[in-house]
Amino acid sequence: MGVVKIMLDAEYREFLAKLKSLRLSRLAEVLDAELKRAVEANLSYLDFLRCLVDRELEHRQAKAVQTRFKKSRMPAVKTLESFDFSFQPSLNPQKIWELAELRFLRQHENVLFLGPPGVGKTHLALALGFKACQAGYKVLFTTLSEMAAALHAARADGSHMSALKTYVAPDLLIIDEMGYLPVEAHVANYFFQIVARRYERGSIIITSNKSFSDWGQMLGDPVLAGAVLDRLLHHSTVITINGPSYRLRNRSKTGEPKTETSPSSVVTKSGEFT
Ligand code: ADP
Ligand code: MG
Repeated sequence: MGVVKIMLDAEYREFLAKLKSLRLSRLAEVLDAELKRAVEANLSYLDFLRCLVDRELEHRQAKAVQTRFKKSRMPAVKTLESFDFSFQPSLNPQKIWELAELRFLRQHENVLFLGPPGVGKTHLALALGFKACQAGYKVLFTTLSEMAAALHAARADGSHMSALKTYVAPDLLIIDEMGYLPVEAHVANYFFQIVARRYERGSIIITSNKSFSDWGQMLGDPVLAGAVLDRLLHHSTVITINGPSYRLRNRSKTGEPKTETSPSSVVTKSGEFT
């Protein structure tokens, strides 16, 4: 602690203030401890400086991830590490870990998670979204009904161009729960525009409990649905999860009444439910 002792208290405080004015507030926070460590470990001047810079950088990167996560509007942090693959044998873990390497994002490809409720579609979408935040990508999470409401309101107040931009601009757009409610014609149209503008330019992750054959009804127009699916599926990975609901995992064992629709549909390889 010799260095600190040489400096007067007032000088040291002034020095910390200077670090803060240089936006090196983390460095100011860890300086005392790092000085002590450097003296104890007999670090060279360069190693000491490198240590301080690393601490500041780590802090900034963590903060940037936090900010990107907040802006993404993702409702929770989910990770692949916390996903129990043994519970969902229809899922190929290797394929999911490959997606987590984010090549699909660099190549502007899409990912669709299809399957009945509770099988982990949203969990996996969020896990990929979080990885994307960590890797520096801008992510936006929405549900189809949330997006429909926003686009509907935007049309009413004439801000639809900026609303469209909201969904076109991020590196990764996650649309959760495609298919719970049918959407109005103008919303379906905006949806097509978003998909068309992102085509080969930015990735989309979609989760849905509907088969592709239901999209016509969901978007109120089979031709439009065809055009949307054509673009979405051209460069895409479709992951169909056909298994038990994780939400109901304990109930089925005890035989308690189930409160949620259990998976009754069967998903074929092409992603169709039968
Ligand atoms: P879906 O979107 O398919 O309806 P969710 O992803 O919302 O299902 O999953 C429901 C809940 O169960 C979430 O809290 C999720 O984190 C958890 N979950 C689902 N599958 C798994 C799994 N295999 N391992 C760990 N947690 C899971
Ligand atoms: Mg879900």
